[in-house]
Amino acid sequence: MAIFSISHSESGKKLLTLKSPVDLSHIDTYECTSSEEISSIMTQAKVAQSEWKKTTLKERVELMHRVADVVIQQQDRIMDVVMRETGKPEQEAMSMEVFSAVDSLVFYAKRAQKWLADKKIKMHGPMQFLKKTIITYKPRGVVAVITPWNGPFILSINPVIQAVLCGNSVVVKPSEVTPMSGALVQEIFALAEAPEHLVQTVIGDGETGAELIDQGPDKVSFTGSVATGKKIAAKCGEMLIPYSLELGGKDAMIVCSDADIKDAASGAVVGSCMNAGQYCCGTERIYVMEDVYDEFVAEAVSITQSLIQSNDCKGDVGPTFWDKQVEIIEDHVNDAVAKGAKVLVGGKRNPNFEGLYFEPTVLVEVTHEMKIMKDETFGPIISIMKVQSEEEALMLANQSHYGLNGNVWTKDLKKGQRLAKAIETGACSVNDMAMSYGVNEVPFGGVKESGLGVVNGKEGLLAYAHPMPIIIGKKSASAYPYTDKSFEQLKGALKIFWGNRLVRKLFG
Ligand code: NAD
Repeated sequence: MAIFSISHSESGKKLLTLKSPVDLSHIDTYECTSSEEISSIMTQAKVAQSEWKKTTLKERVELMHRVADVVIQQQDRIMDVVMRETGKPEQEAMSMEVFSAVDSLVFYAKRAQKWLADKKIKMHGPMQFLKKTIITYKPRGVVAVITPWNGPFILSINPVIQAVLCGNSVVVKPSEVTPMSGALVQEIFALAEAPEHLVQTVIGDGETGAELIDQGPDKVSFTGSVATGKKIAAKCGEMLIPYSLELGGKDAMIVCSDADIKDAASGAVVGSCMNAGQYCCGTERIYVMEDVYDEFVAEAVSITQSLIQSNDCKGDVGPTFWDKQVEIIEDHVNDAVAKGAKVLVGGKRNPNFEGLYFEPTVLVEVTHEMKIMKDETFGPIISIMKVQSEEEALMLANQSHYGLNGNVWTKDLKKGQRLAKAIETGACSVNDMAMSYGVNEVPFGGVKESGLGVVNGKEGLLAYAHPMPIIIGKKSASAYPYTDKSFEQLKGALKIFWGNRLVRKLFG
């Protein structure tokens, strides 16, 4: 019944067989990329990069516009492949995968030339009279992009866009749960007439991902679970490969007494149920002030009851994409109920469908003793806990080893910002669900166990490049011979430049 299974052909080839989460029907069987093939893909990627790095920023930007055109032309095919592997509603396939991809392409295409251009650095102190400095952004080389199954196309293409703009070539290793959705990135770049081997894909499971890193890429951009992130960090540490980790979360939502309760409840339901809850920044824990608790719960129940779950990619809430995940959701809900939680809506697999559908669920009377409030559930579950004060809500929100995102609901925007700043996460929203991954202007990255480094925004883009300073001497630096005079000059400079606060302000 497993959604994906690994077997071997008679000739010893590793095979990946996929089933549909919608009805468990057979989708296809693919040959996994062998170690020898990964090695030759890496060689080809190095050759492609040695040419691509010579292109101008204008040429790279032009490629991004062609890729954007192809994504728009191929939108139906992208949606078909993603929906076949995930069963997600077409609205989500369009918004999360297609629209977001074009949005990123257009965003970086407009800014990359400015952000990646050589920068003149204004020097300070006595150095400014002796040297000029520029920073040039050099590509790192071949980037390995290893991705999960919840946003299989967008989470693959988004890092690729940024890496390629910086002059790198890329090898993508999509999830074994959604291999063809990730492989689309190579196809789209080829259709956009990208140079051969600039963007390639390897197909397989975790072993294939590990073999890709064994080949020594120049950077690893990983999105996935904390457990795998730790393995990748260890391996990259051993091989001294730069890496970024975008990992899991257990995002908290705080509902203050002065919140717009209708808005907050609808934010809670969409934040918890979007993508059937398989959203790294999904709302997984909700802390509601006691004086608005009953009203909030009633609204959340009514909205959740109105959600349509259907197996034709038309409803509001689709299936869980992976059987292992639906088992985790079931385990968390059962554990919560066994420890005293009450199910107000849903609470079980949807008996109307053969596939991996878990009903949108509202749980109350949950506690931090339950898995549902501690570990990442990644399902359409709205877990609500009553709190006596905003301080208590904040304390509970921060009681997690995760720190990806969060959201605070209040009409007092100053208080909202104060609470948001006090949440120990990579980002936070006020009066909105967590959505910073979709805001290309800002860096995205978790704290605590939710990740290391950032993707997106200017900081994320620049992380695919090495900022190389070039220092140009206006006069040759002949410090020798050291003499009493040169020593006294140095002491004099110390006094002139830094001995007085006013002058420090001027030259510091
Ligand atoms: P996963 O860690 O199991 O797998 C992710 C990828 O890593 C897959 O392609 C897998 O084949 C590969 N992999 C597994 N073992 C490997 C190894 N030893 N070396 C190299 N590659 C290896 O994660 P998943 O179950 O596919 O994804 C779900 C997780 O991803 C959730 O925790 C979710 O929160 C997280 N996620 C995070 C973000 C973010 O931006 N922070 C975004 C989406 C998903």
